Amino acid sequence: MHETLKKIIEIVEAHDEWRHQTINLIASENVMSPLAESLYLNDMMHRYAEGKPFKRYYQGTKYIDEIEVLATELMKKLFNSEYAEVRPVSGTTANGTVFYVLGQEKKKAIIPPVQAGSHVSHTKFGILGALCIEQVEMPYDEENLNIDVDKAVKMIEEVEPAFVVLGGSMYPFPHPVKEIAEAAHSVGAKVVYDAAHVLGLIAGKALENPLSEGADVMTASTHKTFPGPQGGVILTNDKDVYKKVSRTVFPVFVSNHHAHRLPSLAVTALEMLEFGEQYASQVVSNAKALAEELHALGVKVLGERLGFTRTHQVVIDVREFGGGSEIAKKLEEANIIVNKNLLPWDPPDAIANPSGIRMGVQEMTRFGMKEGEMKEVARLIKRVMDGEDPKKVKEDVVELRKQFVEVKYGYKLSDLKEAEERFKKYLKLALEL
Ligand SMILES: *Cc1c(COP(=O)(O)O)cnc(C)c1O
Repeated sequence: MHETLKKIIEIVEAHDEWRHQTINLIASENVMSPLAESLYLNDMMHRYAEGKPFKRYYQGTKYIDEIEVLATELMKKLFNSEYAEVRPVSGTTANGTVFYVLGQEKKKAIIPPVQAGSHVSHTKFGILGALCIEQVEMPYDEENLNIDVDKAVKMIEEVEPAFVVLGGSMYPFPHPVKEIAEAAHSVGAKVVYDAAHVLGLIAGKALENPLSEGADVMTASTHKTFPGPQGGVILTNDKDVYKKVSRTVFPVFVSNHHAHRLPSLAVTALEMLEFGEQYASQVVSNAKALAEELHALGVKVLGERLGFTRTHQVVIDVREFGGGSEIAKKLEEANIIVNKNLLPWDPPDAIANPSGIRMGVQEMTRFGMKEGEMKEVARLIKRVMDGEDPKKVKEDVVELRKQFVEVKYGYKLSDLKEAEERFKKYLKLALEL
């Protein structure tokens, strides 16, 4: 018994220690601030709060009600939206809810092409398929690594879908919201902008807010460039959509909505109101610096003609170095964490060893890295690609990472006496139990 217990503790400890020594470039991840993280540990993790604040099905939820209203208000303020729904437990749940609502009458949607980064939840393999909503992919423009606007507009006018989805997972270049929204609205279709990856960049105004560009609904994860707890959110100015969405999240997509994440979400929203612009602009500058240095070192970076990136992402073609799978594994041995990725020209069955690697700089930016360190990171990556022993490169990775351990653009516990006191009390309570 105790052996297994020890094993469990060992695994968690090993993970935590290891990941604090890595340069994490997974584009869909981030870290919370210490203050937000400390609040993640609270008793709400044990509770149910089905329904809406102050109209719950169980007793015992008065503080959950309060924090949920506060988190909702802060998200509305941050994104300048009239309505926010914070109960989806993930971006996929947020998409499911919105797709379900918008696809009630007409089961037809237009989605971004796979090459321009559509997420599995937009496809027949994911939630849209599971909801039996037919999807048509917009045409792809190879030149601009984006949706082909003219052809997409024609398609929208011909197909007359219930809704059009924008946004994606491989997303160095933002989709054209204005043009697509105009075409969609002309045939009575809604536009859903899936901001899972770029919510933090929108919060920090490095990207325009899709709701002000014509999107009717924005769905997102709250833990990618938005550095909050893992969860989802739906934002809109459309009262009718909001009403339907909030009647659908529960009971269709969540019962328990994991309320213990809401205090951390509220703190992260506050932090983004205060530090969001600084953070987002540094993220984009860092991504550009990483891309430029990789390019200068002779690595093929996608989108050279377009300035490589306008988001947190940098995408490289590593076919001549053995492919995405091989390079990702070697980089992991060097404590640089990335993921292999299909590139626009890869057939879908190339997923075992696709041409590309996708990287995001948001987490390392949070830890305080700037353009200079991005160049250093590029050189470390290139050394691995050139065949140097990853174990040797790892030594330098660990050394570099040691200098960047404090989370910036957010609050420390010591920033607020009350936060420190609360956390001490929480630990004491937990230890006595
Ligand atoms: C990550 C992602 C999602 C899903 O988010 P989860 O929070 O992981 O469920 C949805 N859409 C896009 C574009 C994504 O990249």
